[in-house]
Amino acid sequence: MSADPEIVVIGAGPAGVGAALAAADTGARTLIVDEAPTSGGQVYRTMPAEFRLKPNASPGPDYAIGEAQRKRLLASPVQTAFGRRIWNVSSDFRIDAIGPAGLESWRSQALVVAAGATEKVVPFPGWTLPGVIGLAAATILLKSQQMLPGERTVVAGCGPLLAAVAVAIIKGGGKVAAIIDLSGPLDWLKVLPRMTSRRDLLGRGLGWLQTIRRAGVPILFRHMVKEVRQSNGFLEVEAWPVDRDRRPHPGGRGLAGRGHAGQGSNFRADCVTVGHGLVPATEVTRLLRADHEFRAEAGGWIAVRDADFRSTRERVYVAGDGAGISGAAAAFLQGRIAGLTAALDLGKLDRAAHARATALIRRRACKAERFGRAMAGMMTLRPGQLAAMTPDTITSSRRGLAAAWDRVRVASVVRSPRRSSPLGSADAKRLVSGPPEHRSGRSPLRR
Ligand SMILES: Cc1cc2nc3c(=O)[nH]c(=O)nc-3n(C[C@H](O)[C@H](O)[C@H](O)COP(=O)(O)OP(=O)(O)OC[C@H]3O[C@@H](n4cnc5c(N)ncnc54)[C@H](O)[C@@H]3O)c2cc1C
Repeated sequence: MSADPEIVVIGAGPAGVGAALAAADTGARTLIVDEAPTSGGQVYRTMPAEFRLKPNASPGPDYAIGEAQRKRLLASPVQTAFGRRIWNVSSDFRIDAIGPAGLESWRSQALVVAAGATEKVVPFPGWTLPGVIGLAAATILLKSQQMLPGERTVVAGCGPLLAAVAVAIIKGGGKVAAIIDLSGPLDWLKVLPRMTSRRDLLGRGLGWLQTIRRAGVPILFRHMVKEVRQSNGFLEVEAWPVDRDRRPHPGGRGLAGRGHAGQGSNFRADCVTVGHGLVPATEVTRLLRADHEFRAEAGGWIAVRDADFRSTRERVYVAGDGAGISGAAAAFLQGRIAGLTAALDLGKLDRAAHARATALIRRRACKAERFGRAMAGMMTLRPGQLAAMTPDTITSSRRGLAAAWDRVRVASVVRSPRRSSPLGSADAKRLVSGPPEHRSGRSPLRR
């Protein structure tokens, strides 16, 4: 790009691509930056360029949507800077990145932050063992490397990624030892009305269930992974029933399918993939001192925004999961609105044109958000989930001091919940859901 960009979009997932395409359509000089080698983000990620699909392979709808978005981006005037990780954004909109050519900087007049989310894993005994990986991490192996996470995998946690990952493993020729779902069928039924806002996605989900049933995979509803242990080169997974609050309830029955007693069930596997939701990535908006609010149902702390996706910081816009977990379909549409709003504020289109262009997108975004928020609700952290942590559970995936410090802090919470301790219940909640991302069990996905 010869002149500095007018709009820089951070993140080339569906939200960023939507924003960049919409902004560039108005004539704004637009640059999109991502640390990944190409666009797609987490959901539409593709394989390395050297990989080839087998002639009869069917890589699935996510791959097809990603390819279509990549083609649109290529054909557009949007400038791209892939393989660049942004490490700083200053208040005068200087964007610093590091990439193959070393350090690079751009200046911009407006910034769309579409940085997505990171995975949340609530620590439990054994979660740091080799072979235990994030649920979302498994999607990366499956999509990007076309690799099974293990030969025999336990899929655990909550939310729609459980079924998505299980199906990808089955279709890839692997075995799913069990699905251990914190939610129960009633929880799923409760969100069904909101899921009908996107019948296509609902249909896809029902198709996944059929595949899982046909493969004979045991599904343990309202269960949690109590502990993972190493045993003779395998992983022993102990699953316990949970109550409505997702608190381990060893005397409870839970709801177990296909011959499982629902109490202290054990499974043997060589991989356990477990995830408890997503945390919006707010590093950039926090760096820029935009206002944030805590919304548990949106994944935690998010930038405060208006209906046009403006943050409280002038000329900074947010969209996609980074602005509140709402799924890929909503992300693309929110991105389009954010891109158009950035262009409006730079005088690239007038108010009437903005209103016309966003009216239809808003209606579609609304439906997609309804679906996405219903799914995000299934992943909302409940207090009982923290109760499974024993005093010596490692709460940080980082070794050394951080882990030791966390152990001390958790020990004080778990051992003396009623006495006055350095940490109150709000602090305990922040251990897994608050803004300091190093406490959120961040998986090693984006390093
Ligand atoms: C690991 C992971 C896997 C997931 N897999 C699936 C899945 O298989 N199916 C599904 O439906 N949903 C999946 N999700 C949820 C999914 O992220 C969203 O629903 C959807 O992708 C949101 O789109 P987005 O554009 O908001 O964010 P994303 O798709 O996450 O895109 C954000 C982009 O920003 C880039 N980025 C962030 N920070 C920086 C930085 N500092 N410098 C440079 N680039 C940066 C990232 O590389 C990423 O490409 C996954 C989430 C995670 C965290």
